[in-house]
Amino acid sequence: EKRKLWRIRSVKAVTLDGTTVDLLANIELPQEVEQARECGAMGIGLFRSEFLFLNRDDLPDEEEQFEAYSTVVKGMHGQPVVIRTFDLGADKNLRSAYRTAPNPALGLRAIRLSLAEPGMFLVQLRAILRASVLGKTRILIPMLCSSREVDQTLQMIEFAKQSLRDENKPFDENVRIGCMVEIPATALSLELFMRKLDFLSIGTNDLIQYTLAIDRTDETVAHLFDPLHPAIIRLLVQIIQNAGKAGIPVSICGEMAGDSEYTRLLLGMGLRQFSMYPAQLLTVKREILGSHLPEISRLMQKILKADEPEKISELLQKLNS
Ligand code: PEP
Ligand code: MG
Repeated sequence: EKRKLWRIRSVKAVTLDGTTVDLLANIELPQEVEQARECGAMGIGLFRSEFLFLNRDDLPDEEEQFEAYSTVVKGMHGQPVVIRTFDLGADKNLRSAYRTAPNPALGLRAIRLSLAEPGMFLVQLRAILRASVLGKTRILIPMLCSSREVDQTLQMIEFAKQSLRDENKPFDENVRIGCMVEIPATALSLELFMRKLDFLSIGTNDLIQYTLAIDRTDETVAHLFDPLHPAIIRLLVQIIQNAGKAGIPVSICGEMAGDSEYTRLLLGMGLRQFSMYPAQLLTVKREILGSHLPEISRLMQKILKADEPEKISELLQKLNS
C-alpha cells in the first residue's frame, strides 16, 4: 500500500478529465523541506515561522531568521516558498508578556501582535526579504482582518525594503504578499484584501473555529468542530469563487486540505491549490488522480442546497465513491 503510493510521488496531480492541481507542503521546521521534496511537493504552501520561538523567550535576531528562511528557500530549488510571518499568541508559543490574555484566540495574536511590536516585525520582514533573492519567496500574513491592518502591514514591508535598499542589501522587489483568510470578517469582505494583495490562503482551522465559535484547543467541544457545517461549506465556496472571479490565486492550508475525505469536495468548490503536511500529500494526490470534475460538479449542486448534516455526509460519501 505504502509502496504503491510512493510510486505516484513524481506523477503530476491531474484529474481524470485533465485538470492540473497544485500540491504544496506545510512545514514547521526548516529541515522538513527534505521530506516535502521527497513526497513530490511543488513548493512550500505554508512555512509556520513560529518554530523560531520553540522553547525560548527571546527574539531570534535577523541573522538567525535569515539562516532559517534561506535554508527553506534554497532547499526548494526555485519552487515557490510561502513564509508566514509570526502567528504568535493563543495556542501558539508566545512571549510571556502575552500569556495572560483573557481570551487568547480573540486577543493580541498573529499580525495584531506583529503590528504592536514593529521592532520585532521589521527584523522578520528584513530576514524574509533578504532570503527572497535565493528563490521564489512569498510573504503570507496571518489573521489579517481589516483594511487598516492591510495598509499598516504594506507600509511596514515597504519600510523594510527601503532599509535594505539603503544598505545595498539585495531582495526581490516584486516579492508577492498574501493573507490568510481565517476570520469570517475577512472572508465576507474579500474584495478589500484582493485589491491590495497578490494571493490568498484559506486557514480552515481558524476559519471553522471563529465561524462556529468552537475553541480549537478545547477538547470538550472538539466533536462540534465540523468542516461540513453548511455555513462552512458556503463560506468556502464564496471565497474560492470570488477569488476565481478576481483572478487572485487561492489555496487552502488548513487541516481540511490534507484530509482526503474532503479532496473532491474542495475540487468541486473550484479549489486547485492545496497545501498540507508532506505525509498527507500522496494520499490526496491519489484521490485527485481518480477524480472526474464533471461528475463532481453534478453532486456539488446537491451538496450546496443541502443543510442537514446527515444529507451532506450521505452526498459526500457518494462523491467519494
Ligand atoms: C489555519 O488556521 O487553518 C492555519 C493553517 O493556520 P494555523 O493552524 O497555524 O493557525
Ligand atoms: Mg490559523
